Amino acid sequence: MTFLNIRNLRVRFMSQSGVIHALNSIDFSIDAGESCALVGESGCGKSVLGMAIIRLLPSNAVIDGEIRFREKNMAEMSEKDMQEIRGKEIAMIPQNSAMALNPVMTIGSQITETILLHRKVSHRESTERAIELLKSLGFQEPEKAMDRYPHEFSGGMRERVLIAMSLACSPVCIIADEPTAGLDLIIRNQTIVLLKEQSKEKTLLLITHDLGCAYRLCNWITVMYAGEIIESGPTKEVLSHPFHPYTIGLLASIPSAGLHPISGMSPSPSNFPAGCRFAERCKSPLIRCQKEHPSLVLIDGVRKVRCFYYDRT
Ligand code: SF4
Repeated sequence: MTFLNIRNLRVRFMSQSGVIHALNSIDFSIDAGESCALVGESGCGKSVLGMAIIRLLPSNAVIDGEIRFREKNMAEMSEKDMQEIRGKEIAMIPQNSAMALNPVMTIGSQITETILLHRKVSHRESTERAIELLKSLGFQEPEKAMDRYPHEFSGGMRERVLIAMSLACSPVCIIADEPTAGLDLIIRNQTIVLLKEQSKEKTLLLITHDLGCAYRLCNWITVMYAGEIIESGPTKEVLSHPFHPYTIGLLASIPSAGLHPISGMSPSPSNFPAGCRFAERCKSPLIRCQKEHPSLVLIDGVRKVRCFYYDRT
């Protein structure tokens, strides 16, 4: 049984200036215990996909397609059923720890609140669980940390608090949205090690623009561009031998490859071109690329790519 199975998912946002096509024909699945990274530039739709999975998109979002969790279509579930799943079965580590935590609540209250919401336990038991979690995440004096407020911690420690909150109810799946963004190199490495330890035997969906983080944490990788999946497969294979010109460009833009950014901009999500969405930035587009929209095709049993001429690379 596939753990998470997304079929033909489309998300649009209705705004006063028109329709924003955030996700288009997303087909994607993860087996239980697998780890998969969603990578791509800001605005490519990866965070929207994470939020769509746990149904936390704003009210102007229109969702079509299926999001099956253990065969049940979450897109059709009642909000009450979704509340049972969120936090308890699928937990999210949100982006931006400074914004995600409540500045006027102690971190102890924020962790125990999550536990009390989903578990039938006493306040004392929830406090013990919170202390145990903070200890396991490297807080030297977890009892004292419980009484402190988010602004009293560094960015790296706040990220750990978010990890503690996501683990509070022992979920089977974690969606981590940019857990290393804004962290310095040392804290980034510590956060990756912690996430690796804490996500063992869980299903991990990592949303990141950090290819190094994706490489270290995930067996599978899905590359997104302009609201679509453009390449996917085993992480090591995709990163060592990318097929899509966008993935090749992403790899060339990382510091260890010499920081060569992809020139140009992504097309506007309110006005995508009829042909390949990457054509404006592709180094060698052909006439067909401007006219026809390429499909995501399976090329060797496990790898998929959305490019007519992937085998030229
Ligand atoms: S389909 Fe054409 S424009 Fe698009 S990535 Fe492939 S070669 Fe480039």
